[in-house]
Amino acid sequence: MASLRQRQTADKATTHTPVDSNIPDNYVQHTLKTTKPLPPVTWRNALQEINWISTTALTVPPILAIYGMCTTPLQAKTFAFAVFWYFVTGLGITAGYHRLWAHRAYNASLPLQYVLALAGAGAVQGSIKWWSRGHRAHHRYTDTDLDPYNAHHGLFWSHIGWMIFKPRRKPGVADVSDLLNNPLVQWQHKYYVWLLLLVAVVTPTVIPGLCWGDWKGGYFYAAMARLVFVHHSTFCVNSLAHWLGETPFDDKHTPRDHMITAFVTIGEGYHNFHHQFPMDYRNAIKWYQYDPTKWFITVMSWIGLASQLKAFPDNEVRKGQLTMELKKLKLKADDMKWPTSSNDLPIITWDSFQEQAKTRPLVLIAGFIHDVSSFMDEHPGGRHLIRKNIGKDATTAFFGGVYDHSNAAHNLLAMMRVGVLRGGLELESEKAIPPSQRLEIIRGQALARLRADAASKEHHGIYDGERRGEAVGQWDEIQGLPSPPLSTGALDSGDEAGSQPEEMDSLRLSHN
Ligand SMILES: [Zn+2]
Ligand SMILES: [Zn+2]
Repeated sequence: MASLRQRQTADKATTHTPVDSNIPDNYVQHTLKTTKPLPPVTWRNALQEINWISTTALTVPPILAIYGMCTTPLQAKTFAFAVFWYFVTGLGITAGYHRLWAHRAYNASLPLQYVLALAGAGAVQGSIKWWSRGHRAHHRYTDTDLDPYNAHHGLFWSHIGWMIFKPRRKPGVADVSDLLNNPLVQWQHKYYVWLLLLVAVVTPTVIPGLCWGDWKGGYFYAAMARLVFVHHSTFCVNSLAHWLGETPFDDKHTPRDHMITAFVTIGEGYHNFHHQFPMDYRNAIKWYQYDPTKWFITVMSWIGLASQLKAFPDNEVRKGQLTMELKKLKLKADDMKWPTSSNDLPIITWDSFQEQAKTRPLVLIAGFIHDVSSFMDEHPGGRHLIRKNIGKDATTAFFGGVYDHSNAAHNLLAMMRVGVLRGGLELESEKAIPPSQRLEIIRGQALARLRADAASKEHHGIYDGERRGEAVGQWDEIQGLPSPPLSTGALDSGDEAGSQPEEMDSLRLSHN
């Protein structure tokens, strides 16, 4: 009993609870409003604002690397080892820091965790704990000032500026209690400087030195130059991946997908996907896309060192893609001219239609009255075929009775609409909708409005027939001008059919 209590007390002492368990609902807005950022970095204050520790870590290696390149010949073996060490330490960040610890995209066995923690230390980007805390804030507050590398502050800032200068603001709160409870992460944090020196400097100098006698080459190329490449490779995820490429899954924020970014970041270049599905162990989902980090994790799972690889359901991934494709198509559609909607056309009685057809070529097809004057001479079947239908209902003739017109012809016809026949029953039929509009992309807001309109009409018992009645007789005043909005849209069908069946029949009889 006593030992159990002791153990519980010990657990309590080491168990960290999430820092955001009591986070207020308006946290982002409130924090941005109430906490004051440091003044922007300018030429005048730049020197005082420099963060000297990270600036040293970012400037000394490239200086040493350049000096080494000028003084030490590069041996093929050393070059091959430097490239190998680039991938080892780079994967420590991408497969370890990023996908394993920051995102928990899979589970790693203890030996693999040690390898990744050591390799990641060799990339000299801070401990797992520090790195993951910033990265989780980046995902949670993307593109806001609570994101430590907010891409809206420009390519330089998101790449390196945020480390060279003191942070303008504390990153937004992000829970890392799982990492604080992880003894391995704590161990790496505690001995970070020693591990860094061992993996970033000592090992890549000693291996070429002992194995083929190239101590200087090992130091300058495999340690220093390699470190510069690993640094900028990772930094490109924050800069280039938020700037270059496409947004195939969501365009709400800056992350983008690009092959070039993938090549320079060991596969972290499909960043639009990554920000949508951050817990997915993949960045690239297609087999031909470059993602060595994913390949590495997959191989580790084959040999039993990794498990529980998380992959977002394919159906949801495709939904995101479809949304973006529809959005692009909507933009395309918005750029085109479309037929006047039945809501914006005047309602015409049969008698008025007959009267007007004496002075201009009007043809009734599928409930719509069309002014075909611009098309009389263009009609492939000849002018006479149109002329004989003036003032008549040519619906049957148009849809196969005389010639089954093409989709293009139907689309063109719809552009000639000038009115809606009162009680035009055909309006609900497929014939009334030109082929180009049978699949229409409609924004959520507009759709909600249409639904609300339809619901309120149902509630108040207002039917099209009544409303249309109000507009009858306005033909003379509104020729060629849009009428007040009248409801004949697809959502109104049904009501309309039931509202004036008798009148419709009589109209049919009178003109057939
Ligand atoms: Zn990002
Ligand atoms: Zn991430």
